[in-house]
Amino acid sequence: MTAIPATFALKVAPMLVRFGTPAVVAVSEELARMGVNRAVLLSTASQGRSARAFAAAVGPRVTDVFAGAVMHTPVALTAQAVAFVRGIGADGVVALGGGSTIGLGKAIALHTDLPQIAVPTTYAGSESTAVLGQTEGGRKTTITDPRVQPEVIVYDPALVAGLPVALTVTSGLNAIAHAAEALYARDHNPLTTALAAEGLRAMIDALPAVCAAPGDLAARARTQYGAFLCGLVLGQVGMSLHHKLCHVLGGSFGLPHSETHAVMLPHALGYNAAHVGDMLAPLQALVGAAGPGMQRFATGLGAPRSLQDLGMAQQDLDKAAEIALQSRYWNPRPLEYAAIRALLGRAWAGDDVQ
Ligand code: NAD
Repeated sequence: MTAIPATFALKVAPMLVRFGTPAVVAVSEELARMGVNRAVLLSTASQGRSARAFAAAVGPRVTDVFAGAVMHTPVALTAQAVAFVRGIGADGVVALGGGSTIGLGKAIALHTDLPQIAVPTTYAGSESTAVLGQTEGGRKTTITDPRVQPEVIVYDPALVAGLPVALTVTSGLNAIAHAAEALYARDHNPLTTALAAEGLRAMIDALPAVCAAPGDLAARARTQYGAFLCGLVLGQVGMSLHHKLCHVLGGSFGLPHSETHAVMLPHALGYNAAHVGDMLAPLQALVGAAGPGMQRFATGLGAPRSLQDLGMAQQDLDKAAEIALQSRYWNPRPLEYAAIRALLGRAWAGDDVQ
């Protein structure tokens, strides 16, 4: 029987999450329902062409496309986008893309409070949190504000069917990282553990299937279901060492988001596993011993294994360890400079998890 703590809390945001309806149909219906007549559609430059085609297919309620989203939501770019949105008198935002594009939508909503529809094309999970990560002056910070939570999320498996296999793997591992750290979060509760366990089951089951057959829409739909649960639980509880290290490596050293998650997750799990009792049991049931098992799973899918391969300079490892310890945050195992530096060294070299 599940032990129920005397006190716990679940944040339930007023958001509508639609699975499976073709995104063009769902977005057009939701814009009409919200009374939005002049939406701006956001994307990255590389997804600009498909964004413009998507906008045209949705019809006249999407009037403009801003194809300038970039990784880690720099505040200077947000200022430009907010000026653009105000200049055209937009009354809603549709973010079509991964966490970078959805992050820009959230940043615009923070400044304008415009309603947002998020249409994810990766598994990063930003759409289901009220958290905005942004960068300024080489530092990444996060804020939590209900205004940044998208009102509507549309998951259409056709939109991830073309996600390249390498990005499918790293983005899937990014989702898995949310649920894995949620299992041992200080503020976890039976509901967050259930969400995390189901998210892990779906993602770990479906990722090999979509790698084998990237166009398998049923398996892609299962990855989206998993990514949603993993993102939902990310918004419920505090993350620990793994997410902190990834923020430092991405925000201060420019490493790519999902690839960094893929490399770091086994090492962070290895660091914490002996300090969390049986809390990682739902993950261990799927991959075996948390750190080595996750490294085997990731490597088996062809994920990158070392920070070196992501372009990290070896001489930056000391600085990364220092920044990671500068702001103190909760982690199940005490954070010690020597141990964190050694972990980063192993991750840099692509060594086995300890
Ligand atoms: P991303 O959005 O930067 O996408 C990576 C690249 O893949 C981009 O060039 C993008 O255009 C392209 N791409 C996306 N979907 C594609 C598709 N279906 N087909 C082909 N190309 C596609 O990467 P991401 O990993 O999704 O998001 C990372 C960002 O999200 C980071 O800045 C991270 O901090 C943020 N994030 C925030 C939260 C939160 O709760 N605030 C949660 C997770 C991630």
